[in-house]
Amino acid sequence: MFGTTGGGGAVPALSRQEPRTASDTALAPWPLAVLDVPGLRRDGLRPTALRQFILKVHSRCNLSCTYCYIYHAADASWRSHPARATGDTMRRTALRIAEHVDRHRLSEVRVDLHGGEPLMSGPEAVLEYVAEVRAVLPGSCELRTSVQTNGTLLTESGLGELARAGVRVGLSLDGGNAALNHRRVDHTGRPSWPAAERAARLLARHPGTYAGLLCTIDLNADPAEVYTSLAELRPPTADLLLPHANWSHPPPGLPLRAPEAVRTGNPAAAPYGDWLAAVFDLWWDADRSERPHPRIRLFTEIIALLLGLPSTTESVGLSPVAALIVETDGSIEQVDSLKSAYEGATRTGLDVFRHTFDEALDHPGMVARQLGTTALGRACHSCPVLRVCGGGNYAHRYREGSGFRHPSVYCADLERLIRHIATRLAAVVPPLVPPNGRTA
Ligand code: SF4
Repeated sequence: MFGTTGGGGAVPALSRQEPRTASDTALAPWPLAVLDVPGLRRDGLRPTALRQFILKVHSRCNLSCTYCYIYHAADASWRSHPARATGDTMRRTALRIAEHVDRHRLSEVRVDLHGGEPLMSGPEAVLEYVAEVRAVLPGSCELRTSVQTNGTLLTESGLGELARAGVRVGLSLDGGNAALNHRRVDHTGRPSWPAAERAARLLARHPGTYAGLLCTIDLNADPAEVYTSLAELRPPTADLLLPHANWSHPPPGLPLRAPEAVRTGNPAAAPYGDWLAAVFDLWWDADRSERPHPRIRLFTEIIALLLGLPSTTESVGLSPVAALIVETDGSIEQVDSLKSAYEGATRTGLDVFRHTFDEALDHPGMVARQLGTTALGRACHSCPVLRVCGGGNYAHRYREGSGFRHPSVYCADLERLIRHIATRLAAVVPPLVPPNGRTA
């Protein structure tokens, strides 16, 4: 079952099977050309059922943010997708979700409507998609729904319609003022902030429908200004996202390096870790009785992992990933973050008209993201914070020519942040589980 091919060096690799395409083989042999999915299934590896379905309502966006990984990254597949999901795609997707729920006896699933900009056709398309799913789900399964928007097209009446349908609204921003959002511009370069700020104020008046904020980290921005300005918009949650990058396309502010250079426990430059640690201290030390205080998911996830709980996000931890995407044409794809790796990295070759979601779970890329430590590179296997970090976001492990079996390109940053949080947490709560999960 195990061989030695793969990007991670001496850790056992899985045996070869026929590659999906020649370009896949060249760009990401691990997992696409290496992972022996039938063999793994024969050996007892069971798929984890999907719990989150990210449905593309509209594949175009009215903004052109300079760092956008969909429109400015290696993958331009959005150009081949129809602008809007048709009624047929919506109905078929809904039936596939219901089929999956039934087969796995799921009591709860999450449907997130994304784009492009999902409100490009108004809230109607979002409401239609949600109604299609609700109509076919068994009553025993709770459906949680949200739409992730840039906010520029959100109106009071539209928000009311979404709220009545039980659809919560998440907003994407880079901070809570105009200067911090200078990279979020429309196709003519005009700033999106005035319209986005209106949406943020509107959502703050409707906390029951406010899902939270997504914010991509910009090292040039002051972490205190970003945190304080975001908190003043009163989101219930704020997700701070590392820019999508990998060993072949390094993050802004980090030099091009090789995964073999990873040495855990050394004082390598970790500007993103330092940036996040600065925000953590503000967040941790904030007077909760006086200031708005959003839940910051990366921090709460790391704290939970340090306390021995499983993760619920792909960013950290070793929990199997249970999410996939349905594009506007009904094609089943892996998560969008992979678009930062190479053209076609999200592709599975499957679609909701011909394939079940269980078939998607057998795609090597999906299996790789449900493998836990087996999917990690050599450095991770001896890493003292392995159980908490989990190798970081799968998309950030990519290196052209070998694939995804590497530590995260943010390895030093993740270790810096985890150790910082562990130190602050230890002052209040003795750690129940060491970060590597081993007992002394
Ligand atoms: S587990 Fe995380 S911190 Fe440790 S080597 Fe892997 S990527 Fe780096």
